[in-house]
Amino acid sequence: MKDYYKILGITKSANKEEIKKAYRKLAHEHHPDKTGGDGQRFKEVNEAYQVLGNDRKRKEYDMYGQVFDEGGGNAPGWDFGNFSQGFSSGDMGVNFDEIFEGVFGGFGGRHYGRRGRDISIDVELSFEEAIFGAERRVLLNKLNKCSRCGGEGVDEGSKKTRCGACHGSGTIKEMRRSFIGVFSNLKECDSCHGRGEIPEKPCKECAGLGIVKSDEEAVIRIPAGVNNGEMIKMSGGGEAIAGGVSGDLYIKLHVRAHAIFKREGRNLLMDLEIPFSEAVLGNEKNINILDGVIKVIIPNGVDSGEVLRVRGKGVPSERGRGDLLINIKVKTPKRLSRRAKKLMEELKEEGF
Ligand SMILES: [Zn+2]
Ligand SMILES: [Zn+2]
Repeated sequence: MKDYYKILGITKSANKEEIKKAYRKLAHEHHPDKTGGDGQRFKEVNEAYQVLGNDRKRKEYDMYGQVFDEGGGNAPGWDFGNFSQGFSSGDMGVNFDEIFEGVFGGFGGRHYGRRGRDISIDVELSFEEAIFGAERRVLLNKLNKCSRCGGEGVDEGSKKTRCGACHGSGTIKEMRRSFIGVFSNLKECDSCHGRGEIPEKPCKECAGLGIVKSDEEAVIRIPAGVNNGEMIKMSGGGEAIAGGVSGDLYIKLHVRAHAIFKREGRNLLMDLEIPFSEAVLGNEKNINILDGVIKVIIPNGVDSGEVLRVRGKGVPSERGRGDLLINIKVKTPKRLSRRAKKLMEELKEEGF
């Protein structure tokens, strides 16, 4: 994850005014339209300000090193959302394009240009990993930007020239017949792959395409408190495409069940069996939880089915940790020693 504070050249304790000031200065300095401007730095500075300039996002970033953006699409780094709740509006555009690809050729006049393929993978997590977060490294064999030419497709020392086939527009007009009628349709130029330029001498590694199929390690940070079936979206983690932006990587989470603990929202649930005498007299005992040992006070006279709440020992979340709910189960003794039986009979006489 990028260090947004470093990018803006400020400390973690900077206030809103200082953040704004640093942003303005750097944005001005690196603006790509200026001589000596740096488009990449400009983008970074903007990305940093989008997070640190927003109170909620800054808080999330400080706490988790990432931002949970339900808006999707434009958020820097990680987007995080529940897949079953459907895509956000930004993503819907992608789906529509895929649906209409057959009719309109899937290219031209869109609010975005060429976009690489999305990839989805499945990741299995233990119950503990889902509760406390985890990191996974996965090797993805996919189309990546060519590292030799930086995705430009041009050999070292060579340059690009205007594509003759499309006269530099990157698109070619094409008539299409469909059941609705005849469409005039803009199609990607085959010669330059939509770039409008072709390399004089193509890069030897990627044959001028700017992309190569290779293994790339993706580091997936799974935030604390994820649920089974949830989806994490890693913007730009999908396949690269020549002259366009990379697709996204979707990570579907599968959480294994736990033998003792269950989860209900931010709370953890467990059953605790206690002997009959403990229920009557009460006790103070240590129990193992997912992240350590805690001391629990069993109040005297506790009933089977009563629930003891231990605050702050549940699932971590933005609003702090949930609670641990201990469901008491009183064990009725099945086999008694002679002495125990005698004592029980005495108790019975007493009316217990
Ligand atoms: Zn190359
Ligand atoms: Zn062309």
